[in-house]
Amino acid sequence: MSVADRRRLPSVDAVVRAAGPLAVPRPRFVAAVRAVLDDARGGRLSVAGAEDAARAARERLALRDRRTLRRVLNATGVVLQTNLGRAPLAPAAVAAIAEAAGAASVEYDLAAGRRGERHGHARALVAELAGAEDAVVVNNNAAAVLLALAALASRREVVVARGELVEIGGGFRIPDVLRRSGAKLVEVGTTNRTYVKDYAAAIGERTAAILRVHASNFRMTGFVARPEDRALASLARERGIALVHDLGSGTFLDTAAYGLAHEQTVQDAVAAGADVVTFSGDKLLGGPQAGLAAGRGEAIAALRAHPLMRALRPDKLTLAALVATLELYRDGRAERELPVWRMIAAAPAALAARARAIVAALAASGVGARVVATESTVGGGALPEQTQPSRAVALEADAARAAAALRDGEPAVVGRVVDDRLALDLRAILPEDDGVLAQAVIAATARWRRSS
Ligand SMILES: *Cc1c(COP(=O)(O)O)cnc(C)c1O
Repeated sequence: MSVADRRRLPSVDAVVRAAGPLAVPRPRFVAAVRAVLDDARGGRLSVAGAEDAARAARERLALRDRRTLRRVLNATGVVLQTNLGRAPLAPAAVAAIAEAAGAASVEYDLAAGRRGERHGHARALVAELAGAEDAVVVNNNAAAVLLALAALASRREVVVARGELVEIGGGFRIPDVLRRSGAKLVEVGTTNRTYVKDYAAAIGERTAAILRVHASNFRMTGFVARPEDRALASLARERGIALVHDLGSGTFLDTAAYGLAHEQTVQDAVAAGADVVTFSGDKLLGGPQAGLAAGRGEAIAALRAHPLMRALRPDKLTLAALVATLELYRDGRAERELPVWRMIAAAPAALAARARAIVAALAASGVGARVVATESTVGGGALPEQTQPSRAVALEADAARAAAALRDGEPAVVGRVVDDRLALDLRAILPEDDGVLAQAVIAATARWRRSS
């Protein structure tokens, strides 16, 4: 920029005056104007007068102030997408969050009119559904595992099969969690085969527990062996130690009813004799992020009494959403009202009909797309390698540009690339959102056409 051009740049005051009434505090706007004028001086931006500079400052602020946590339509075909917040909540759970958002009886016993128990709200429901004596809720399943090991095995040994020393993702590695809990890991068996006798030989004076971990995100096949839960539970009982079972996803319903492999239910794991069974609130359970631990009264009482409990306790919004979600199971409404189960239950023919309707709506707005057959997954560390036949709307446009434009929308849409086309899989989209999805695609198409 020449000296003459630089002199022609408006002053900060002139730009602020030209901006008129401000929607943000003045100092923030002034700082944005300074940054715009700096860029103009440095030749990184051209500014055609005070009004243009004011517009650029507004845009800069809007971009910077845009929330990074935004609504997304999950068109990835992965029902429980950890990066997209896992289980979408049921309307009943959302309503419960709104109700609890003000003052609520979190630690207040309304019947007695005195201080109550935060841990009381979900306790009976979880225990009833799990068929367990007692239950406790923490922030997530990683916290539940940590708490169980800290409460039952700190400074003592925990026996784990080598084939179960897994990494779940997000850096959650069983050996690390064990170390953090203060327990000492004792590995038994080989990667592919572990027998009850391996566990039995490893149990000694210092052993506090056997930890069993569900292989959530991978499958071992071939020459593999792993003892039954019941056998491990009997061994633990015989030797006076605890059996802790990290189920991972933890489902109350039988996934085999949906053409998927059978995933051990929470009730099964509890009935098989584990002292503590831990599982997530936001995987197949379909509720908010939470960690649930269900099991024998004594063991759960030890978890509840541990000092870590204070740091891991759930907030009132989580508790409200969790209780509302669990009530749907109790009342036999889970399959009809929980988004996760509605998505898993959607039949290919229904998905195809919806995809055709969306393609027609797009065509009516001049957006080219077609229906493609896809395979969707449950995700969230449940049912690895299991897929369900699904349908997607594939956009007839450059996949990378379409994806970027869709991510930039409100709501954002995240799909996946199939055969060089951006495919919007309907498995994890609820039918009531089909119209929103079509509108988002139409709006995004208009944006990328304008910009090209
Ligand atoms: C998902 C998973 C966890 C972690 O659960 P979060 O609720 O994400 O903390 C732990 N163990 C297993 C086996 C899992 O699948």
